[in-house]
Amino acid sequence: SKVPAITLNNGTVMPQLGFGVWQIPDDEAFTSVGQALETGYRSIDTAAIYGNEEGTGKALAASGIPREELFVTTKLWNSEQGYDATLRAFDTSLGKLGLEYVDLYLIHWPLPSRDNYVATYKAFEKIQAEGRAKAIGVSNFQPAHLERLLAETSVVPAVNQIELHPQFQQAESRDFHARHGIATEAWSPLGQGKGLLEDPTIGRLAAKHGRTAAQVVLRWHLQIGNVVIPKSVTPSRIAENIDVFGFELDADDLAALAGLDAGKRLGPDPATFDVV
Ligand code: NAD
Repeated sequence: SKVPAITLNNGTVMPQLGFGVWQIPDDEAFTSVGQALETGYRSIDTAAIYGNEEGTGKALAASGIPREELFVTTKLWNSEQGYDATLRAFDTSLGKLGLEYVDLYLIHWPLPSRDNYVATYKAFEKIQAEGRAKAIGVSNFQPAHLERLLAETSVVPAVNQIELHPQFQQAESRDFHARHGIATEAWSPLGQGKGLLEDPTIGRLAAKHGRTAAQVVLRWHLQIGNVVIPKSVTPSRIAENIDVFGFELDADDLAALAGLDAGKRLGPDPATFDVV
């Protein structure tokens, strides 16, 4: 495939671009994941809370693609944090996916007010030691939460999946990750398709390169080193979003995009989010 790979801090190889399936119902996930795989995606990002691990797993199986060519991520939901509950929840996810192992298992949110992510992560370390997750990591962790994991656990998270797009560039987290060998994975990389894709600067760069706004935004992520997982259920967009390896943004383009940072968070603030 033409999607470049990045090597995570434990040697696991991860495609830099994958397919996100948040808000895709289970039966539609079968179709959409199947389309993504047919279009050339090999990395799929799901989560227990998305309710589509079964449809995703069926699409993976039906594709006939060898397991070692796929990269499957799922996430532990908030209600299952804690050492024993995590081990049970992981078994459930693996069963729904119909897999022997996942490539990446993430703690979905830190829930700092509940103070349970260290025990949760220790169960993740056990799961990885058993070979049932090739790599383990976190999602929505801020530097303070990562500092605590680094101090109290043994395995440096391979990945932190955080909200990140041109209007919310997360400089502090990206810098922290770079200093600690943690890969930055961008969720809502297209800013959920609203507003962001109508930005005039992005429109100007799209016209300049003869590409779409979504392709310019994805190219920006890739060139600054992020892993991206755009979501679409529209076949033409699924194809468009992976067709981003035939052009390059130049230094002026990257500077113009750097100027779009507006601290515009779309999702919850991980410091206070505590929904289970
Ligand atoms: P996204 O930024 O990928 O945007 C998706 C939306 O943008 C689509 O629903 C569609 O409306 C539009 N879109 C997609 N491709 C387009 C194109 N080529 N042209 C025009 N519009 C287009 O948003 P997302 O789904 O929120 O994020 C992607 C993935 O990130 C999710 O599916 C999920 O896997 C993950 N995610 C994780 C968390 C987390 O807490 N870890 C939170 C949100 C999302």
